[in-house]
Amino acid sequence: MKIYLNGKFVDEEDAKVSVFDHGLLYGDGVFEGIRAYDGVVFMLKEHIDRLYDSAKSLCIDIPLTKEEMIDVVLETLRVNNLRDAYIRLVVTRGVGDLGLDPRKCKEPTIFCIAIPMPPLLGEDGIRVITVSVRRLPVDVLNPAVKSLNYLNSILAKIQANYAGVDEAFLLDDKGFVVEGTGDNIFVVKNGVLKTPPVYASILKGITRDVVIKLAKEEGIEVVEEPLTLHDLYTADELFITGTAAEIVPVFEIDGRVINNRQVGEITKKLKERFKEIRTKWGIKIYDE
Ligand code: PMP
Repeated sequence: MKIYLNGKFVDEEDAKVSVFDHGLLYGDGVFEGIRAYDGVVFMLKEHIDRLYDSAKSLCIDIPLTKEEMIDVVLETLRVNNLRDAYIRLVVTRGVGDLGLDPRKCKEPTIFCIAIPMPPLLGEDGIRVITVSVRRLPVDVLNPAVKSLNYLNSILAKIQANYAGVDEAFLLDDKGFVVEGTGDNIFVVKNGVLKTPPVYASILKGITRDVVIKLAKEEGIEVVEEPLTLHDLYTADELFITGTAAEIVPVFEIDGRVINNRQVGEITKKLKERFKEIRTKWGIKIYDE
């Protein structure tokens, strides 16, 4: 496997980053997880926009244009001959000294990894719990910034692992349910699709945006409003969205069974529509 690292393609064994890199020392960096389906990089432009916004927020000046960054992703797929892949694109503050001062880092470290990944979208539902660790407030470390510091999510995941379930949902400091460790949350109640708003402590998921768009196209009413535990426990349908997960139904939350452990009608419809558009909404890797 060839990895893009700071302007070159290198073998996996040679894809090494300095121990003085502030991405490693402080989680000081940003990233994107991206998918390619049948030769199309899904929503690539949107991922690149979010990467640059995350970097801007942290004052990391990416020395490539967005167009050049898109080429980095496409070239990584081409040199590895991939059509269906999971892509990890990372930009760190770069190499500095042991102090945390970002001014010590002269240029960002940039790497891109692509691994084969077949399309998912199975029918299985997952079990979830809400955990005691709260989502980072927007005035502490805004989850809208997709930074390398995922400790908040990791702490939540540890609780889910310990409880023997598939995923953890986090509440914010007011007690509203905001998101999963690596996914956004949707509830269906009386035919209306609901999800926490962007001003909540969430990452504005690209899959979330796609699902909202598809739902509206299907004539489904979409409401972005704060959700309580009660909203989730009494949902007609409940599902999560994310680049890796796609659309996954939740069959159980904190011991409450949702929709008799069946995939609901609206979830099913959105999964079908997602499957149709995932090879269309994006940028082609190869001329064909
Ligand atoms: N929230 C968090 C915390 C995430 O890590 C992710 C995955 N990137 C998401 C939501 C879903 O975002 P997307 O649909 O862009 O993958």
